[in-house]
Amino acid sequence: MPVKYNAIIIRFGSEIGTKSPRVKVRYEKSICDYIRRLLEHHSVSFEKLEYTYGRAYLFTNETSEASELLTRVFGISSFSPAISTTSDIDQIADVCVSLAKEEFIPNATFAVRCRRVGTHPYTSLDVNRIVGERILSSLKDLNLKVDLENPMYTMGIEIREDKAFIFLETIEGPGGFPIGSQGRVVCLISGGIDSPVAAWLMMRRGCIPVFLHFDLGDFGDKRTRDKVTRLVRKLSEWMFNTPLRVYIVPHGENLQEIKDKCMDNLTCVLCKRVMYRVAERIAEMEGAVAIVTGEAIGEQASQTLHNLAVIEEATKGVPVIRPLVTFEKVETERLARRIGTYEISAEEEKGCAAAPKRPSTRARMGVVLKEEQKLDIERMVEIALERAEKFEIKYGNGDN
Ligand code: ATP
Ligand code: MG
Repeated sequence: MPVKYNAIIIRFGSEIGTKSPRVKVRYEKSICDYIRRLLEHHSVSFEKLEYTYGRAYLFTNETSEASELLTRVFGISSFSPAISTTSDIDQIADVCVSLAKEEFIPNATFAVRCRRVGTHPYTSLDVNRIVGERILSSLKDLNLKVDLENPMYTMGIEIREDKAFIFLETIEGPGGFPIGSQGRVVCLISGGIDSPVAAWLMMRRGCIPVFLHFDLGDFGDKRTRDKVTRLVRKLSEWMFNTPLRVYIVPHGENLQEIKDKCMDNLTCVLCKRVMYRVAERIAEMEGAVAIVTGEAIGEQASQTLHNLAVIEEATKGVPVIRPLVTFEKVETERLARRIGTYEISAEEEKGCAAAPKRPSTRARMGVVLKEEQKLDIERMVEIALERAEKFEIKYGNGDN
């Protein structure tokens, strides 16, 4: 008989397992709720999603459509499309033989690995042995061999009470915590490669992002605004049921004032200090507990460890979190590809025209404070907030 995948075993993030039983169950159930709504939203039909401590079993005939969606669910560490059957050992062995017949290439090596919960007339070791022998004896033509150390195929069998699930493949999930299990954060997003990745890393840990983009006006590129919108829409694929708030704040005039009045080599540091102050105010308005940026040590002149400290001094209470602080660019790019933001970020765009030729990599705090006295920073922040544009991006309202 041809095998038909009709279930998916879902394993929750290993870190969720370290929580108290009460929190663990709450987290895992909230991930299950999210999965149900995600599948319904995409019209992927399923019979049921059964939750048991540490695992969930999705019964569906549309396993490939469902798998595609599960790769983007925070809190899942891995999942396996499976064939569900009863816990009867003969039935299990029959399914395993059919699956091996369809999938194993001649001369392949394999192992059988069983996990078992419940009361059964056999142990897991019995299952491994019986199924292994049945595969060998039923598929003699294939010249298969058992290799427990380094098998080409692992026939996974999970038996839970009166049901069994048989699978060959384990697909990695993103891990992390359920959506909204941590606080809100203000994410500074620029249109480049780094900032969407930084936001995603926070989202994965359960934070809800509020996006903040500074429109550089004549110093920027007209295309950036649209890029930012599309990036947020891409990120919404990972949080489909949460409308993502976006603030766009005019920053061109402020930048002009900094250029006109202050030392050229401090432009970037002064510009960022204004950004951080605006971010802090928005954090207060939004009840957000942190500011998030895509900064990484030494990536730009304004991002030397020294300058990061000087920039951060502008905030008074809200912590600044930089998830990419130690990332190599290639690592960030790899992650951006996986998240789906890379292509949008990589679209051509001209850099900030206000950036000086020789930016300071070691701005002196005293000098920065003195330069800021030439500016009416309070007013800059107030005007930025007054003119801020605010809107929400909801998953599905566009091309995703
Ligand atoms: P990215 O690759 O994220 O665009 P970058 O490498 O161009 O960043 P910077 O311009 O120094 O580096 O920006 C560092 C961080 O500051 C960004 O990751 C982002 O969080 C924030 N940032 C920079 N420009 C803007 C902007 N126009 N609006 C909002 N945030 C910004
Ligand atoms: Mg960067």
